[in-house]
Amino acid sequence: MAFFFSRVNLFIFFHLLVATPIFSESSSSSHAISTTKFLDLAKDPQLFDWMVGIRRKIHENPELGYEEFQTSELIRVELDKLGISYKYPVAVTGVIGFIGTGLPPFVALRADMDALPMQELVEWEHKSKVPGKMHACGHDAHVAMLLGAAKILKEHENEIRGTVVLVFQPAEEGGAGAKKILDAGVLENMSAIFGLHIAPTFPIGEVAARAGPIFAGSGFFEATINGRGGHAAIPQHSIDPILAASNVIVSLQHIVSREANPLDSQVLTVGKFQGGGAFNVIPDSVTIGGTFRAFSKESFMQLRHRIEQVITGQAAVQRCNATVDFLDEEKPFFPPTVNNGDLHEFFQSVAGSLIGSNKVKDLQPLMGSEDFAFYQEVFPGYFFLLGMEDASVERLELPHSPYYKVNEDALPYGAALHASLATSYLLKLHQQVPVVEGKHHDEL
Ligand SMILES: [Zn+2]
Ligand SMILES: [Zn+2]
Repeated sequence: MAFFFSRVNLFIFFHLLVATPIFSESSSSSHAISTTKFLDLAKDPQLFDWMVGIRRKIHENPELGYEEFQTSELIRVELDKLGISYKYPVAVTGVIGFIGTGLPPFVALRADMDALPMQELVEWEHKSKVPGKMHACGHDAHVAMLLGAAKILKEHENEIRGTVVLVFQPAEEGGAGAKKILDAGVLENMSAIFGLHIAPTFPIGEVAARAGPIFAGSGFFEATINGRGGHAAIPQHSIDPILAASNVIVSLQHIVSREANPLDSQVLTVGKFQGGGAFNVIPDSVTIGGTFRAFSKESFMQLRHRIEQVITGQAAVQRCNATVDFLDEEKPFFPPTVNNGDLHEFFQSVAGSLIGSNKVKDLQPLMGSEDFAFYQEVFPGYFFLLGMEDASVERLELPHSPYYKVNEDALPYGAALHASLATSYLLKLHQQVPVVEGKHHDEL
């Protein structure tokens, strides 16, 4: 906390010292562009219809993580039409676009592209045409909004003080596409990254976020508990893995309830229990699996450590042996999503000017997770929720429901916020450079 305040003071000090007379002109002109004008541009019927068309096209053809080939192609076709250069393929299907000078500083905007393996149950004209696949998390809208922002930014390219990097990312839903994008080495030297998720729980025209942790870190585990099978009526000749697994599960529940600080929210759920197939047979083994969540990496690692200890130790009490797999390849763990404090102040100011500060709400942390967290581990990042609820029309379902719907009226807000955040942040960096030359990256 003290560190945070000291940096703010330092910035104000430098700003007062030299920035005002040098940059007042550029500041006023670019600031005006990045606030109300971007929202008006995004609400323009032509741009709005274009975004809606893109979103519906993607919605009709949902693709799962690392299979977003048609979605990726659609994005590249639109970027080509807009004259925006890009790198492809990145992380299998990812597309990284560039708008601006092509030189530092770089600020990234991210949209995820993947759908979910579930059947859409909404009957409408643009229902998913692929059985068993659906955009039930709104990533189709995220792509449309980032393309909308790209269009606005391209039209103002000569006013951009650096480079906006568009990150169309694969496989957010459990595939850790963000990590793969980072591993590809295409996001070197980013000064900041912004991302959003549309949310049916907030009214349209509002945003919600907070500084610090907003989503939990999330991991999975699977354990096999091995005993010795035999006749159910002669248990003395068997080693019963069903009973051992039952005790393991009960013991696992003690980790959060007895070992974790009650003020440090954590979850450990066993959602899978498979073993046995007959009423009168003790099986050889039982497989259990579950998920665990925490808001700090320390708590997360402690949970992981104790899960393994409790499973193997408790199984041993029942004469079984157990192996624990954290599925690092298949389901890599997501770190907690933690918003940078300085970016929070910046976001409140930019979003406040764009939509009104009374529409910028505080977000309570959620136990869900977001692979945007991977970016935040490497450079400062900020993630927020974009409201889309219109109570006068209908109540919207939560993400991952087969009845999930997107209120497309939210698209202009997302596009304008993306465009405003990127241009304003580059402007802010531009203003800082002569003052703290070569140091502004460290400052953040
Ligand atoms: Zn989702
Ligand atoms: Zn999502």
